[in-house]
Amino acid sequence: MSARTVLERCDELAAVSALPDGYVERTYLTVEHKAANALTATWMTEAGMDGTWQDAAGNVCGRLEGERPGLPALLLGSHLDTVPQAGRYDGILGVMIAIEVVARIAASGAALPFALEVVGFGDEEGTRFGTTLLGSRALAGTWDPAWCGLLDADGVSLRQACAAFGLDPDAVGRAARRPEDVIGYLEAHIEQGPVLEQRGRPLGLVTSIAGARRMLVTVTGRAAHAGTPYRLRRDALAGVSEAILAIESLAPELGLIATVGRVGAQPGAVNVVAGSATFSLDVRAACDPQRDAGLETLLAEVGRICTRRELSLSVEHTHAAETVHCDPAMTAVLARGIAATGDPAALELFSPPGHDAMAVAALTGVGMLFIRCAGGVSHHPEESVLEADVALAIDAMHAAVLSLAEGYGTLAA
Ligand SMILES: [Zn+2]
Repeated sequence: MSARTVLERCDELAAVSALPDGYVERTYLTVEHKAANALTATWMTEAGMDGTWQDAAGNVCGRLEGERPGLPALLLGSHLDTVPQAGRYDGILGVMIAIEVVARIAASGAALPFALEVVGFGDEEGTRFGTTLLGSRALAGTWDPAWCGLLDADGVSLRQACAAFGLDPDAVGRAARRPEDVIGYLEAHIEQGPVLEQRGRPLGLVTSIAGARRMLVTVTGRAAHAGTPYRLRRDALAGVSEAILAIESLAPELGLIATVGRVGAQPGAVNVVAGSATFSLDVRAACDPQRDAGLETLLAEVGRICTRRELSLSVEHTHAAETVHCDPAMTAVLARGIAATGDPAALELFSPPGHDAMAVAALTGVGMLFIRCAGGVSHHPEESVLEADVALAIDAMHAAVLSLAEGYGTLAA
């Protein structure tokens, strides 16, 4: 019954979109963001929450008090923003499940030893301003005031967008929570990968959220006329092609997910052997030592290919994020929640994509639950989940909250 409500609300939010014809796009600090917050706040109120508000960063929040007012809160949430031509579940499903869990607890009249807060983050995807996790980083206290200068595709600054949304651009940092006011953060999210489906499991327990390393790899040879015999060529693009295939075949053995998403060749003429070629490389793994060691092996192999082809190689590192490990206590609580649904040994997996939990980990311990999604597809209109899986996710999150409350009582006693 409640899973149906959750899915219907995801459908209703999908209609709050900047795109016509049923396509979903909802980005930070837009009129669609504002409308989604308003709709979500009404559902929070319907769930029996004591109060709802929009914080200084435009995150929508709702609170159910515990056994007495003003207790520290367990945060439950995910994000309400989307990429262009998005699906309707990435992020949104986690917020709607959180509201349903609070509705159940409010209806049961249970007085928990902590407050419950649901947060619908305004920006996780970074679609509008090119920087991700703006909403969750504001809540976690890691908002950088310099971000006010970020521009969207129309040249509108984040500062202007804040003001148009009704926020004080100089006060976004006030969205920061104090660590003593929160006891943890739990997030349910679609897997965005095929593991659960392949293993026939509806739910999974996230151990870590991968921090990516990104770089630009440039291979240099010698530009030459297309009539040059092969034995005299130092073809940078052929070298890069061999390198990309080597990366693809080696990465799984090294426990890596490596992606080459962009390739360019110079001078880029149809009748010239490429003198240089550059490709982007994004590498992720379950933990940083594995990622870094694996990357070294990949680059050594690329180096061997270049040497054999008499090409030179240079690597420019452009981005590195640390892998965030989920909190053992929050993870144990979620494991008990999953166990309550009849799965005593939850499948553990790491998350290659980033999530709000990554940012919130700077504030408090985080735990994440993954929900199977069809074909592992996300960021696409075909994103899809089973109602039965959503029902299990609600049960697991609900049981996790109750389990945390029990343990809390034991600790206090
Ligand atoms: Zn997401």
